[in-house]
Amino acid sequence: MHNHVMPTYARFPLTLVSGKGSRATDDQGREYLDFVSGIAVNGLGHAHPAMVKALCEQAGAMLHCSNLFHIPAQQQLADRLCQLSGLDTAFFCNSGAEANEAAIKLARKFWFDKGAARRTIITATQSFHGRTLQTLTATGQDKVKIGFDPLPPGFEHVPLNDIAALKATVNDETAAILLEPLQGEGGVNEAADDYLKAVRALCDETGILMLLDEVQTGIGRTGEMFGFEHTGVVPDILTLAKGLGGGVPIGAMLANANVATAFGPGTHGSTFGGNPLSCTAALTVLEVIKKEDLLANVREQGARLRKGLQHLKDRNQRIVDVRGQGLLLGVAFETEVAGIIEQCRSNGLLLLSAGPKVLRFLPPLNVTAEEIDEALTILSRSVAQLEAA
Ligand code: PLP
Repeated sequence: MHNHVMPTYARFPLTLVSGKGSRATDDQGREYLDFVSGIAVNGLGHAHPAMVKALCEQAGAMLHCSNLFHIPAQQQLADRLCQLSGLDTAFFCNSGAEANEAAIKLARKFWFDKGAARRTIITATQSFHGRTLQTLTATGQDKVKIGFDPLPPGFEHVPLNDIAALKATVNDETAAILLEPLQGEGGVNEAADDYLKAVRALCDETGILMLLDEVQTGIGRTGEMFGFEHTGVVPDILTLAKGLGGGVPIGAMLANANVATAFGPGTHGSTFGGNPLSCTAALTVLEVIKKEDLLANVREQGARLRKGLQHLKDRNQRIVDVRGQGLLLGVAFETEVAGIIEQCRSNGLLLLSAGPKVLRFLPPLNVTAEEIDEALTILSRSVAQLEAA
């Protein structure tokens, strides 16, 4: 039969239909350990009882009503995210790209209101910020831009962790610096603590806004609620999505009060953003993370997984690096990893890559020690099978 879905994804030959916790089941009834988590989305795993209950209740009350009305769940979620992050106000949308679009707009409007000609956003090479025209232009990877010109002006790229290069690029047209504290799609590359601190200092000196894209790292993934907490550096604008809704689409852009005043009625909006259903999902994610002490679990299981991966590296010369934070870990190989992903899948473990040569691990935040050990066993068996073939 003709496939009517646009082929924008090179899909794995697998149809997942249900799941429970860290396990997903395909349409043939076969079970897999799911260390993809919908690309860092399903932080509570599949079908968490608290999520099922909260969503069913909210669906029975109201799914959507428009931002023309007050939405109590949205208000509560904004309060909670601001309390957790130290920022002052939140705008809700439906995805990571939209959250970054909002951040770019807010940064530009902030300077427009001041009467300053600062419009340029500086980002890092290898970064990933989304697929809309602004966010793919912000992205520091040429492959996502091919064929989409003319691209919007106002973006520059610098190598990550090179403060001299950043200082040489900053000028009186710079509006903001946009970074991921740990690049996910670009290969699991950490921004060094000292670098983030130096960026904050540079922004404090010049007034340039510091934007952090925590679409992938936010909501517990790195072992803190937000990746920036590892360094103590607080951004002026923070973007979230993926894990925020635990599988229900929602994005957020948080800003400090000084910057947020640039967005008044009519400056930005979203029909669906922050509707009762998605905010209920996000509130449930935050509640379960706290109640089940999942940040501690991320740190513990992240350390266990990392140790196991390091052990595999010590025995395998094709592995060049084990890196990342919490439960966003990458294993860099000398060669492409597509074959390993396929072999792991046939052995019952779902993994993904971050670029052609990096295996990426994104188990749910509530993964158990037994599941980590099982994944490590499947991985080393799969690597050994491929080497023996
Ligand atoms: N920013 C980062 C850091 C991401 O990892 C992603 C998605 O992978 C995005 C933005 C885009 O998010 P979305 O696909 O929800 O638009």
